[in-house]
Amino acid sequence: MEKIVVALGGNALQDGNTNPTAEAQLKVIEQTVKYLVDLIDQGYNLVITHGNGPQVGRIVIQNEMGNEVTPAMPLDVCGAMSQGMIGYHMQQVLGNELKSRGINRPVATIATQVIVDEKDEAFKKPTKPIGPFYTKEEAKILEIEKGYNIVEDSGRGYRRVVPSPQPKKIVEIETIKTLIDNNVIVIAVGGGGIPVVEENEKIKGIEAVIDKDLASKLLAEHIDADILIMLTAVEKAAINFGKPNQQWLDVVNTEDMKKYVSEGHFAPGSMLPKVLAGIEFVESKPGRKTIITSLDSVKEALAGSNGTIIM
Ligand code: ADP
Ligand code: MG
Repeated sequence: MEKIVVALGGNALQDGNTNPTAEAQLKVIEQTVKYLVDLIDQGYNLVITHGNGPQVGRIVIQNEMGNEVTPAMPLDVCGAMSQGMIGYHMQQVLGNELKSRGINRPVATIATQVIVDEKDEAFKKPTKPIGPFYTKEEAKILEIEKGYNIVEDSGRGYRRVVPSPQPKKIVEIETIKTLIDNNVIVIAVGGGGIPVVEENEKIKGIEAVIDKDLASKLLAEHIDADILIMLTAVEKAAINFGKPNQQWLDVVNTEDMKKYVSEGHFAPGSMLPKVLAGIEFVESKPGRKTIITSLDSVKEALAGSNGTIIM
């Protein structure tokens, strides 16, 4: 049975056009889960990961707005909350769908910590904007009072930026493996994992946001997956993206993909991490394959007739 790590992008978890209520999020997850259970039904062994950008951003807003009533939680704790929230919805909806199709598989979410290096260059240069927009005056106060790094974000206001360090090690990897070996459908490294650092033989949380595509690749390698699928808003990755000479990519080998990377075809922070994670996964062991596609094309992509496939 082929083992697949499926990384769910933002739009597999929420509809950008509707108010992000709990009900609306559940509806999107219901749609997403149908596609996933189709794959399980076909006999693939799935391990699920997901992003948390919009969700953790909202949790941060809720915490900051409520700070005068009850203390705001730091970013690592907000990340943990987002894993719990999304994992809860996935467990419920996936559980219902499996049951309705007569598939007897338990589902479990693992609050996953991912070790990063405190000396990672990303800590010197935070780049990832999160949470609400502030005025210049508010930004000044937050910089002093909370030590936030705040930058002007494309004319829209001031925003906190956090580091996005490289994931090094998944703390709960043995738990995840044990569950997989025991037929459990696991949801792990949500939002790229809760960032932690090692200090004097102990680990502790650190304020950062790990890229979920890179963390999913790490997980896929460690559980010896055959395929890494990154589900996103586009059916394929493209070269000359958004230009008149745009060309969608079908099956690409790692050498060609590296060439496209060096030519700057993939946007940092969106398609680039997927492509880089995809190349590294394929190169980590012979026979491994990466697919970048959208939810509704995933079945075709597994059959080789859609998506960008890195081999
Ligand atoms: P996710 O939430 O799935 O991680 P992202 O927004 O981070 O989604 O990344 C996917 C997006 O990357 C696509 O929707 C597309 O707008 C953008 N993108 C940037 N460069 C490319 C490219 N070369 N080919 C395809 N999509 C690209
Ligand atoms: Mg992304």
